[in-house]
Amino acid sequence: MVRTCVICNKERAIIKRPKTRQQACRECFYYVFETEIHNTIIDSKLFNKGDKVAIAASGGKDSTVLAYVLKLLNERYQYGIELFLLSIDEGITGYRDDSLETVKRNQQQYDLPLKIVSYSELYGWNMDQIVKEVGLKNNCTFCGVFRRQALDRGAVMLEVDHIVTGHNADDIAETVLMNIMRGDIARLSRCTEICTNGDECIRRSKPFKYTYEKEIVMYAYFKKLDYFSTECIYSPNSYRGHVRTFLKDLEGIRSIAIIDIIHSGEAFELKKGVKLPIQGVCKRCGYISSNEFCKACVLLEGLNRGLPKLGIGKTNKMLKKYGNMPEGMATIPKFMNKNSDSVSEQC
Ligand code: SF4
Ligand code: ZN
Ligand code: ZN
Repeated sequence: MVRTCVICNKERAIIKRPKTRQQACRECFYYVFETEIHNTIIDSKLFNKGDKVAIAASGGKDSTVLAYVLKLLNERYQYGIELFLLSIDEGITGYRDDSLETVKRNQQQYDLPLKIVSYSELYGWNMDQIVKEVGLKNNCTFCGVFRRQALDRGAVMLEVDHIVTGHNADDIAETVLMNIMRGDIARLSRCTEICTNGDECIRRSKPFKYTYEKEIVMYAYFKKLDYFSTECIYSPNSYRGHVRTFLKDLEGIRSIAIIDIIHSGEAFELKKGVKLPIQGVCKRCGYISSNEFCKACVLLEGLNRGLPKLGIGKTNKMLKKYGNMPEGMATIPKFMNKNSDSVSEQC
Protein backbone atom coordinates (compact mmCIF):
# COMPACT_ATOMS: atom_id res chain seq x y z
CA MET A 1 0.00 0.00 0.00
CA VAL A 2 1.37 3.41 -0.98
CA ARG A 3 1.41 5.81 1.97
CA THR A 4 1.24 9.56 1.72
CA CYS A 5 3.49 11.85 3.73
CA VAL A 6 1.59 13.01 6.82
CA ILE A 7 3.41 16.37 6.80
CA CYS A 8 2.73 17.65 3.26
CA ASN A 9 -0.16 15.25 2.51
CA LYS A 10 1.06 15.16 -1.07
CA GLU A 11 4.20 13.18 -1.71
CA ARG A 12 4.75 9.48 -1.25
CA ALA A 13 6.08 8.65 2.23
CA ILE A 14 9.36 6.77 2.11
CA ILE A 15 10.50 7.25 5.72
CA LYS A 16 9.04 6.32 9.06
CA ARG A 17 10.56 8.80 11.52
CA PRO A 18 12.09 6.83 14.40
CA LYS A 19 11.33 9.64 16.84
CA THR A 20 7.63 10.14 16.12
CA ARG A 21 6.85 7.13 13.91
CA GLN A 22 5.38 9.58 11.36
CA GLN A 23 5.39 8.54 7.69
CA ALA A 24 7.16 11.27 5.74
CA CYS A 25 8.53 12.04 2.31
CA ARG A 26 12.23 12.75 1.98
CA GLU A 27 11.98 16.54 1.69
CA CYS A 28 9.62 16.83 4.68
CA PHE A 29 11.95 14.64 6.75
CA TYR A 30 14.88 16.92 5.93
CA TYR A 31 12.79 19.96 6.81
CA VAL A 32 11.53 18.71 10.20
CA PHE A 33 14.96 17.31 11.13
CA GLU A 34 16.69 20.63 10.41
CA THR A 35 13.91 22.75 11.91
CA GLU A 36 13.93 20.83 15.20
CA ILE A 37 17.66 21.49 15.53
CA HIS A 38 17.14 25.16 14.66
CA ASN A 39 14.39 25.38 17.32
CA THR A 40 16.70 23.80 19.91
CA ILE A 41 19.41 26.35 19.04
CA ILE A 42 16.99 29.29 19.27
CA ASP A 43 15.11 28.11 22.40
CA SER A 44 18.41 27.59 24.26
CA LYS A 45 19.97 30.78 22.87
CA LEU A 46 23.08 28.78 21.96
CA PHE A 47 24.73 31.36 19.71
CA ASN A 48 25.26 35.09 19.58
CA LYS A 49 25.99 36.97 16.38
CA GLY A 50 29.74 37.08 15.79
CA ASP A 51 30.48 33.94 17.83
CA LYS A 52 33.41 31.84 16.68
CA VAL A 53 32.26 28.23 17.01
CA ALA A 54 34.40 25.10 16.75
CA ILE A 55 32.66 21.88 15.73
CA ALA A 56 34.33 18.92 17.43
CA ALA A 57 34.79 16.82 14.29
CA SER A 58 35.71 13.15 14.38
CA GLY A 59 34.62 12.21 10.87
CA GLY A 60 31.81 10.08 12.36
CA LYS A 61 28.15 10.44 11.47
CA ASP A 62 27.19 12.77 14.34
CA SER A 63 29.85 15.41 13.87
CA THR A 64 29.64 15.21 10.06
CA VAL A 65 25.88 15.81 10.13
CA LEU A 66 26.42 18.53 12.74
CA ALA A 67 28.90 20.37 10.50
CA TYR A 68 26.60 20.03 7.48
CA VAL A 69 23.45 21.16 9.33
CA LEU A 70 25.11 24.02 11.24
CA LYS A 71 26.56 25.43 8.04
CA LEU A 72 23.16 25.17 6.38
CA LEU A 73 21.23 26.71 9.31
CA ASN A 74 23.81 29.47 9.74
CA GLU A 75 23.19 30.47 6.12
CA ARG A 76 19.42 29.87 6.15
CA TYR A 77 18.69 31.75 9.38
CA GLN A 78 21.69 34.08 9.39
CA TYR A 79 23.01 33.23 12.85
CA GLY A 80 26.11 35.25 11.96
CA ILE A 81 28.51 32.72 13.48
CA GLU A 82 31.93 31.70 12.18
CA LEU A 83 32.39 27.94 12.01
CA PHE A 84 35.60 25.90 12.38
CA LEU A 85 36.34 22.18 12.48
CA LEU A 86 38.38 21.00 15.46
CA SER A 87 39.67 17.42 15.45
CA ILE A 88 41.61 15.45 17.98
CA ASP A 89 44.16 12.91 16.81
CA GLU A 90 44.38 10.35 19.60
CA GLY A 91 46.97 8.36 17.65
CA ILE A 92 44.98 5.18 17.00
CA THR A 93 46.42 3.48 13.94
CA GLY A 94 43.82 2.00 11.64
CA TYR A 95 41.04 4.09 13.13
CA ARG A 96 41.71 7.75 13.78
CA ASP A 97 44.14 8.16 10.90
CA ASP A 98 41.39 6.96 8.54
CA SER A 99 38.63 9.02 10.16
CA LEU A 100 40.81 12.16 10.00
CA GLU A 101 41.03 11.66 6.23
CA THR A 102 37.22 11.94 6.22
CA VAL A 103 37.42 15.18 8.25
CA LYS A 104 39.93 16.55 5.75
CA ARG A 105 37.49 15.79 2.92
CA ASN A 106 34.68 17.43 4.95
CA GLN A 107 36.87 20.50 5.29
CA GLN A 108 36.95 20.75 1.48
CA GLN A 109 33.28 19.85 1.03
CA TYR A 110 32.03 22.40 3.60
CA ASP A 111 34.81 24.92 3.08
CA LEU A 112 35.55 25.31 6.81
CA PRO A 113 38.95 25.90 8.46
CA LEU A 114 40.30 22.81 10.24
CA LYS A 115 42.60 22.46 13.24
CA ILE A 116 43.93 19.06 14.33
CA VAL A 117 45.42 18.68 17.83
CA SER A 118 47.22 15.46 18.66
CA TYR A 119 47.72 13.63 21.96
CA SER A 120 51.37 13.19 21.02
CA GLU A 121 52.01 16.93 20.82
CA LEU A 122 50.05 17.69 24.01
CA TYR A 123 50.91 14.76 26.23
CA GLY A 124 53.89 13.06 24.60
CA TRP A 125 51.87 9.83 24.38
CA ASN A 126 49.42 8.53 21.79
CA MET A 127 46.68 5.96 22.39
CA ASP A 128 48.59 3.15 20.65
CA GLN A 129 51.41 3.64 23.20
CA ILE A 130 48.97 4.06 26.11
CA VAL A 131 47.13 0.83 25.27
CA LYS A 132 50.48 -0.99 25.18
CA GLU A 133 51.11 0.33 28.69
CA VAL A 134 47.68 0.03 30.33
CA GLY A 135 45.94 -2.68 28.30
CA LEU A 136 42.35 -2.59 27.11
CA LYS A 137 40.63 -2.12 30.46
CA ASN A 138 41.14 1.53 31.38
CA ASN A 139 42.21 2.88 28.00
CA CYS A 140 39.00 4.87 27.54
CA THR A 141 39.54 6.67 30.87
CA PHE A 142 42.84 8.03 29.55
CA CYS A 143 41.36 8.76 26.15
CA GLY A 144 38.24 10.54 27.50
CA VAL A 145 40.11 12.73 30.00
CA PHE A 146 42.80 13.62 27.47
CA ARG A 147 40.22 14.37 24.79
CA ARG A 148 38.29 16.79 26.99
CA GLN A 149 41.39 18.85 27.67
CA ALA A 150 42.61 18.53 24.08
CA LEU A 151 39.35 20.00 22.78
CA ASP A 152 39.62 22.94 25.16
CA ARG A 153 43.26 23.49 24.27
CA GLY A 154 42.46 23.29 20.55
CA ALA A 155 39.67 25.83 21.08
CA VAL A 156 42.13 28.20 22.78
CA MET A 157 44.52 27.79 19.82
CA LEU A 158 41.69 28.58 17.40
CA GLU A 159 40.58 31.49 19.61
CA VAL A 160 36.96 30.37 19.47
CA ASP A 161 34.25 31.20 22.03
CA HIS A 162 32.34 28.00 21.81
CA ILE A 163 32.70 24.26 21.11
CA VAL A 164 29.74 22.28 19.78
CA THR A 165 29.74 18.50 19.97
CA GLY A 166 27.66 15.91 18.14
CA HIS A 167 26.26 14.28 21.30
CA ASN A 168 22.75 13.18 20.41
CA ALA A 169 19.61 12.35 22.42
CA ASP A 170 20.61 8.67 22.74
CA ASP A 171 24.04 9.64 24.15
CA ILE A 172 22.46 11.95 26.72
CA ALA A 173 19.80 9.43 27.78
CA GLU A 174 22.58 6.82 28.20
CA THR A 175 24.55 9.23 30.36
CA VAL A 176 21.51 9.93 32.57
CA LEU A 177 21.02 6.18 33.11
CA MET A 178 24.73 5.62 33.79
CA ASN A 179 24.85 8.41 36.35
CA ILE A 180 21.75 7.04 38.09
CA MET A 181 23.27 3.56 38.23
CA ARG A 182 26.54 4.92 39.59
CA GLY A 183 24.80 7.25 42.03
CA ASP A 184 26.85 10.12 40.62
CA ILE A 185 24.61 13.00 41.64
CA ALA A 186 27.07 15.75 40.70
CA ARG A 187 27.16 14.59 37.08
CA LEU A 188 23.48 13.68 37.04
CA SER A 189 22.56 17.25 37.88
CA ARG A 190 24.43 18.64 34.91
CA CYS A 191 24.58 15.92 32.26
CA THR A 192 21.36 17.06 30.59
CA GLU A 193 22.42 20.70 30.35
CA ILE A 194 22.51 21.70 26.71
CA CYS A 195 25.23 24.22 27.35
CA THR A 196 27.89 24.00 30.02
CA ASN A 197 30.09 26.67 31.51
CA GLY A 198 29.55 30.32 32.13
CA ASP A 199 30.59 33.51 30.48
CA GLU A 200 34.31 33.54 31.14
CA CYS A 201 34.85 29.93 29.94
CA ILE A 202 34.77 28.25 26.58
CA ARG A 203 31.14 27.33 26.20
CA ARG A 204 30.34 23.79 25.23
CA SER A 205 27.01 22.77 23.81
CA LYS A 206 25.06 19.96 22.22
CA PRO A 207 22.69 21.14 19.45
CA PHE A 208 21.62 17.48 18.90
CA LYS A 209 20.36 17.13 22.47
CA TYR A 210 16.87 16.14 21.24
CA THR A 211 17.95 14.53 17.95
CA TYR A 212 17.67 10.76 17.71
CA GLU A 213 20.70 8.80 16.58
CA LYS A 214 18.62 6.81 14.08
CA GLU A 215 17.44 10.04 12.43
CA ILE A 216 21.03 11.30 12.20
CA VAL A 217 21.98 8.07 10.41
CA MET A 218 18.96 8.40 8.09
CA TYR A 219 19.76 12.02 7.32
CA ALA A 220 23.41 11.21 6.56
CA TYR A 221 22.35 8.29 4.39
CA PHE A 222 19.74 10.11 2.29
CA LYS A 223 21.94 13.20 1.93
CA LYS A 224 24.85 10.92 0.95
CA LEU A 225 27.16 12.67 3.41
CA ASP A 226 30.76 11.52 3.53
CA TYR A 227 31.36 10.04 6.99
CA PHE A 228 33.44 7.34 8.64
CA SER A 229 31.54 4.52 10.32
CA THR A 230 34.12 2.11 11.73
CA GLU A 231 34.26 1.50 15.50
CA CYS A 232 37.42 2.33 17.42
CA ILE A 233 39.72 -0.71 17.52
CA TYR A 234 40.16 -0.15 21.29
CA SER A 235 36.43 0.12 21.97
CA PRO A 236 35.83 -2.12 24.97
CA ASN A 237 32.81 -4.09 26.00
CA SER A 238 32.07 -1.14 28.24
CA TYR A 239 29.44 -0.30 30.81
CA ARG A 240 28.08 2.27 28.37
CA GLY A 241 27.71 -0.50 25.78
CA HIS A 242 25.33 -2.43 28.07
CA VAL A 243 23.36 0.73 28.85
CA ARG A 244 23.14 1.43 25.10
CA THR A 245 21.70 -2.03 24.43
CA PHE A 246 19.16 -1.52 27.23
CA LEU A 247 18.15 1.87 25.80
CA LYS A 248 17.77 0.48 22.26
CA ASP A 249 15.46 -2.24 23.65
CA LEU A 250 13.38 0.44 25.40
CA GLU A 251 13.27 2.52 22.23
CA GLY A 252 12.02 -0.50 20.30
CA ILE A 253 9.04 -0.76 22.64
CA ARG A 254 8.41 2.96 23.07
CA SER A 255 10.35 5.40 20.89
CA ILE A 256 9.66 8.40 23.12
CA ALA A 257 11.50 6.67 26.02
CA ILE A 258 14.72 8.47 25.01
CA ILE A 259 13.18 11.93 25.34
CA ASP A 260 11.39 10.89 28.56
CA ILE A 261 14.72 9.86 30.14
CA ILE A 262 16.27 13.21 29.16
CA HIS A 263 13.29 15.06 30.67
CA SER A 264 13.60 13.00 33.85
CA GLY A 265 17.28 13.96 34.04
CA GLU A 266 16.36 17.62 33.58
CA ALA A 267 13.84 17.39 36.41
CA PHE A 268 16.38 16.10 38.96
CA GLU A 269 17.24 18.64 41.60
CA LEU A 270 19.92 18.38 44.23
CA LYS A 271 18.62 18.42 47.79
CA LYS A 272 19.67 21.50 49.71
CA GLY A 273 22.84 20.88 51.65
CA VAL A 274 24.29 18.25 49.27
CA LYS A 275 28.00 19.01 49.01
CA LEU A 276 29.55 19.15 45.55
CA PRO A 277 33.28 19.20 44.84
CA ILE A 278 34.81 22.68 45.01
CA GLN A 279 36.50 23.76 41.81
CA GLY A 280 40.07 24.99 41.96
CA VAL A 281 42.95 25.06 39.51
CA CYS A 282 45.46 22.29 38.80
CA LYS A 283 48.76 23.17 40.47
CA ARG A 284 50.62 21.85 37.50
CA CYS A 285 48.91 22.91 34.29
CA GLY A 286 46.31 25.49 35.34
CA TYR A 287 43.29 23.53 34.10
CA ILE A 288 40.26 23.71 36.42
CA SER A 289 40.16 20.80 38.81
CA SER A 290 38.39 19.85 42.01
CA ASN A 291 41.63 18.22 43.22
CA GLU A 292 45.14 19.58 43.64
CA PHE A 293 46.06 18.19 40.24
CA CYS A 294 43.77 17.68 37.28
CA LYS A 295 42.99 14.17 36.15
CA ALA A 296 45.03 14.52 32.94
CA CYS A 297 48.16 15.49 34.90
CA VAL A 298 47.72 12.57 37.29
CA LEU A 299 47.14 10.10 34.44
CA LEU A 300 50.15 11.46 32.62
CA GLU A 301 52.31 11.28 35.74
CA GLY A 302 51.28 7.63 36.09
CA LEU A 303 52.28 6.90 32.49
CA ASN A 304 55.60 8.73 32.83
CA ARG A 305 56.43 6.97 36.10
CA GLY A 306 55.46 3.55 34.77
CA LEU A 307 52.54 3.47 37.23
CA PRO A 308 49.52 3.59 34.90
CA LYS A 309 47.10 2.86 37.76
CA LEU A 310 48.00 6.13 39.49
CA GLY A 311 45.14 8.09 37.95
CA ILE A 312 42.53 5.33 37.94
CA GLY A 313 39.93 5.56 40.71
CA LYS A 314 40.01 8.10 43.52
CA THR A 315 42.93 10.43 42.85
CA ASN A 316 43.77 11.29 46.47
CA LYS A 317 43.77 7.65 47.54
CA MET A 318 46.03 6.62 44.68
CA LEU A 319 48.47 9.50 45.27
CA LYS A 320 48.73 8.44 48.92
CA LYS A 321 49.50 4.90 47.84
CA TYR A 322 52.01 5.70 45.09
CA GLY A 323 53.55 8.94 46.39
CA ASN A 324 52.56 12.50 45.67
CA MET A 325 53.25 14.50 42.55
CA PRO A 326 55.89 17.19 42.57
CA GLU A 327 54.39 20.58 41.81
CA GLY A 328 55.40 22.85 38.96
CA MET A 329 56.74 20.17 36.64
CA ALA A 330 54.21 20.80 33.91
CA THR A 331 54.38 18.23 31.19
CA ILE A 332 51.14 19.47 29.65
CA PRO A 333 51.37 23.07 28.43
CA LYS A 334 49.90 25.65 30.86
CA PHE A 335 46.20 26.09 30.31
CA MET A 336 44.93 29.64 30.23
CA ASN A 337 41.20 29.08 30.20
CA LYS A 338 38.83 27.82 32.85
CA ASN A 339 37.07 24.66 31.81
CA SER A 340 36.74 21.74 34.15
CA ASP A 341 38.42 18.35 34.08
CA SER A 342 35.62 16.77 36.03
CA VAL A 343 34.00 15.12 33.03
CA SER A 344 35.71 12.94 30.50
CA GLU A 345 34.71 13.35 26.90
CA GLN A 346 32.80 10.48 25.43
CA CYS A 347 34.06 9.51 21.98
FE1 SF4 B 1 39.30 6.54 22.83
FE2 SF4 B 1 36.75 6.06 22.23
FE3 SF4 B 1 38.65 4.45 21.33
FE4 SF4 B 1 38.03 4.44 23.94
S1 SF4 B 1 36.67 3.78 22.26
S2 SF4 B 1 40.10 4.42 23.05
S3 SF4 B 1 37.53 6.62 24.28
S4 SF4 B 1 38.40 6.61 20.79
ZN1 ZN C 1 6.06 15.52 2.59
ZN1 ZN D 1 46.81 19.60 35.20
